[in-house]
Amino acid sequence: MKRFAWLLSVALFSSAIAQYPGAQPVPSDYKAGFDAILKEDIKKWIEYLAGPECEGRGTGQPGYKKAADYVAGYLQRFGAKPLGDNGSYFQHVPFFEARADNAKTFMAFNNLKLSAGREINVLSGAGMGEEEAEIVFVQGGGDARLEPNEGFSGKIVIVFGKNVNPQLRRQTTFGSLASFTVVEKLGETTWTLARGPIPDKPPTGIGAVRGEITLEAAQRLAKALGVPDSIAQMPDLSKGAFANRFVATEKVKITTASEFRAAFVANVVGIIEGSDPELKAEFVGVGAHLDHLGKRGNVVFWGADDDASGCAAVLGVAKGLHENPNKPKRSVILMFFAAEEAGLIGSRYLTDNPTFDLSKMTSEFQLDMVGRNEENRTEKASDNEDTIHLVGTRRVSNDIHDLMQEANKYVNFKFEYDEEDVYGRSDHINFARKGIPIAFLFSGFHPDYHQPGDTVDKINFDKATNASKLAYIAVSMSANRTEPFKKIEGN
Ligand SMILES: [Zn+2]
Repeated sequence: MKRFAWLLSVALFSSAIAQYPGAQPVPSDYKAGFDAILKEDIKKWIEYLAGPECEGRGTGQPGYKKAADYVAGYLQRFGAKPLGDNGSYFQHVPFFEARADNAKTFMAFNNLKLSAGREINVLSGAGMGEEEAEIVFVQGGGDARLEPNEGFSGKIVIVFGKNVNPQLRRQTTFGSLASFTVVEKLGETTWTLARGPIPDKPPTGIGAVRGEITLEAAQRLAKALGVPDSIAQMPDLSKGAFANRFVATEKVKITTASEFRAAFVANVVGIIEGSDPELKAEFVGVGAHLDHLGKRGNVVFWGADDDASGCAAVLGVAKGLHENPNKPKRSVILMFFAAEEAGLIGSRYLTDNPTFDLSKMTSEFQLDMVGRNEENRTEKASDNEDTIHLVGTRRVSNDIHDLMQEANKYVNFKFEYDEEDVYGRSDHINFARKGIPIAFLFSGFHPDYHQPGDTVDKINFDKATNASKLAYIAVSMSANRTEPFKKIEGN
């Protein structure tokens, strides 16, 4: 009993502090939903999405799938029906992964066969093909350089040496048929993500293969081709040294093939149906992008602000609508976009291949980075506790600008208008492009933007919660409004 009372008081306290001073009391029609958007929830959602499970939600990476399952689970819990492919919450955006097919990839000279996965490893550029080519052995560790005009067009290049400098690496790969770096131990044959449906058959031809070869195999190949022992070594040469190179007199055969698999890159979409028998056929959209930069090597880009904060805010809108007894007249579509960081790909796909009648969407509200205090050379973070940028509200319709002012009376953010330059930089632009009035909420840039330091501990949870409450009110008002949005000419 005591514990329960304590929890209850925490909940009341947290919802009470979320609005900023001077905010008006929330109209009774919206109050239950508004109060249901809790800082505790927003925090929990951001912690998961920007936490170790999701590993930065990289496009095509396992962490993205986990994030998609997570938000889809909450859509279901909050009564949103699936609006993706085949009755699911997922609208799949065509992507696939490719890598060298190790069983069919090898280099050969006479009886010597160097197989992928054992002696060589092809990291990129494997189409389906077979070629015979001249082979050049280069010894150039450390600072060793080649003559600047030395080229390897159409050749296979084997590069020996420790700590090969980037310039030599570029020179030995540029234009070559294949370039193999000599290593002690092969790395993994990694999958590379590509756009489009899985190809029926691999592209033909070998082009610009990049790979690795074990020292043992490279030395065996060198010996078979009569390359001097002094070349097939791994030195770390000093400054000013020239790299040695040796062109074998006989050609070597290289055979490559690739394999494909589907990649999970999906928008997550759900709909809370409107209460009005006619207006429910019209939609109000609210969205955030679910992807971030993911894991690159061993570094995770967590994307707590960008855009776990916006996703949590959209979940907050879903919860608010679910818990409010007065249901909105129009239907509300909740969207978590895929592959935003790669160029707004998910939202572009959704607006070009909508799973609903897009012409019936009256407005779209976008939340991208709503959890930090803007910080730059001229503005201190501590001066931006309660500021947020309102972007794009005078592009398609001025009415949505007025609606945002009205909605903000109940939250009382200090709106800033000096980031209109980011108008083209998030998913709403794909809706605006279709003539749909948009409002974009963005708390601003900070030193951790697109850095591994965009972590949960730096989030301003009051702000993210208030962004969610503001979006909830704005979405509700838009879903209930009687007048259509008047469009600015040209939209
Ligand atoms: Zn973003």
